[in-house]
Amino acid sequence: MDVLIDVGVAIDVLAQRSPFVEASTRALSKAASDHSRAWLYVGSVQTLSHVLKGQLQVSSEGGEDHETVAAERLDTFTKRFHWLAALTEDAEGVFADDDPEAAQLSRAVARLGPHAKLLTRNPALLSRCQQAVSPEDFLELECPPQPTAFIDLAAQQDRLRAGIERRTHAVLRHGKYILGPEVAELEAELCAYTGTRECATCASGTDALLMALMALEIGPGDAVFTTPFTFVATSEVIALLGATPVYADIDPETFNLDPERLAEAIAAIKAEGKLRPGAIMPVDLFGLAANYGRIQEIASEHELPVIQDAAQAFGAVAHGKTAPAHGTIGCTSFFPAKPLGAYGDGGACFTDDAELAERLRSIRVHGMGADKYDTVRPGINGRLDTLQAAILLEKLAVYPAEVEARQRVAGQYCEAIGHLPDLRLPRIPPGYLSVYAQFTVRHPRRHELQQALKAAGIPTAIYYPQPSHQSSAYAGRTWYRALPEAERASREVLSLPFGPDVKRELIERIRQAWMG
Ligand SMILES: *Cc1c(COP(=O)(O)O)cnc(C)c1O
Repeated sequence: MDVLIDVGVAIDVLAQRSPFVEASTRALSKAASDHSRAWLYVGSVQTLSHVLKGQLQVSSEGGEDHETVAAERLDTFTKRFHWLAALTEDAEGVFADDDPEAAQLSRAVARLGPHAKLLTRNPALLSRCQQAVSPEDFLELECPPQPTAFIDLAAQQDRLRAGIERRTHAVLRHGKYILGPEVAELEAELCAYTGTRECATCASGTDALLMALMALEIGPGDAVFTTPFTFVATSEVIALLGATPVYADIDPETFNLDPERLAEAIAAIKAEGKLRPGAIMPVDLFGLAANYGRIQEIASEHELPVIQDAAQAFGAVAHGKTAPAHGTIGCTSFFPAKPLGAYGDGGACFTDDAELAERLRSIRVHGMGADKYDTVRPGINGRLDTLQAAILLEKLAVYPAEVEARQRVAGQYCEAIGHLPDLRLPRIPPGYLSVYAQFTVRHPRRHELQQALKAAGIPTAIYYPQPSHQSSAYAGRTWYRALPEAERASREVLSLPFGPDVKRELIERIRQAWMG
């Protein structure tokens, strides 16, 4: 539940105003508990400061120094709560109102949704605003526990709210919505983070893969070697260009393309002589980079480019490189639920090859040449929105800390559930750092495990219940031999709630739900 705190209730506590202080203190504790999120309205800052100073002066608290005491007290007090921004609509038409501040608060609380409450003692607000409630009545209210999130993006937003609002507002001000300055700034930051020379952001992870294939001129008759245990987009882009997805089986330990199976598939395609080997497209599943050491050897041997599908693995480390720096072209996605996610679709291609980078930038804008109306190749409308770039800049700034937090949460999971019978944890080979896009376990009786967690209110997901070669979408347009490991994985995997904000208590609830 979201609870907006009005100035009066805050002052009860800040100035220890009797007889209200006791109920208001308890109401604020309840509002800021695990089951609820407590807000102060930015538009109330001045009133809050003014009223508190007045109160302290009247009660002679703090003596001469009551202004400093008020400032210190407010500083400590407000840190417990979230700030709710004042928006333009809060000012519109409020002067005709008897009580402009009450009108503003009513609008502000309505923005938090119909179930949000406005905590107040103001009789006018209590009668005019349906969402208003007194501290005494709020203490009687039942706050149902928040449903457990599979990926908790709200907790991250709480940490980043100020920067995200500032960045968003800056874009609305400058108005350069397409390829604005934030896009170039983000591309430079992404290059620095991954250690690649060139980055071309784009509209989605899917577009990143498509643009990479187009830049390498993959088309009909080409075989693109990839894994069947992945999201549909990987095969989709290959098929869209008329090329053929050729599947090699996965390593059951890492869920990633098994280099030896890959080598066999390339040999088989060459022996058959019908398709032309075009590219290798490994996927860094669940945040763990594929075995690029070995894959690169195979690629060199056959003179094939590598397109790294690191949609789930931005920032993963392996073989001394940060994903997606492993491929001839590396691709990632900024879909909101990916480890580095925007507030909408987004993606990026990375490369050290300046000519490829130029081709990618051309493809991203309809195959544009030197001049806007000079079309030099087929392209797409694949640009990243400036607004998403602005959001991503804020998120990228805290990403290293989040990757660390992800390691900590994974460690806690392993400690808590590592010994459970028949359960297999993700295995991260030595020298690899996973960003854990998913924390995916294996269990031979996955359905039972999922049901037990569901009964305890814990959401889970199955990535992926069907390997790509069994999908009807591209039936007859793919090439593969036996893929037993991918098929077994699709029957056994279960992804658990994960993210940098997952708490120990949740992991403990999961352990107990399964062990009883
Ligand atoms: C998410 C994902 C994509 C596609 O990214 P979008 O941004 O959703 O288009 C491609 N490949 C893999 C492995 C993914 O997980």
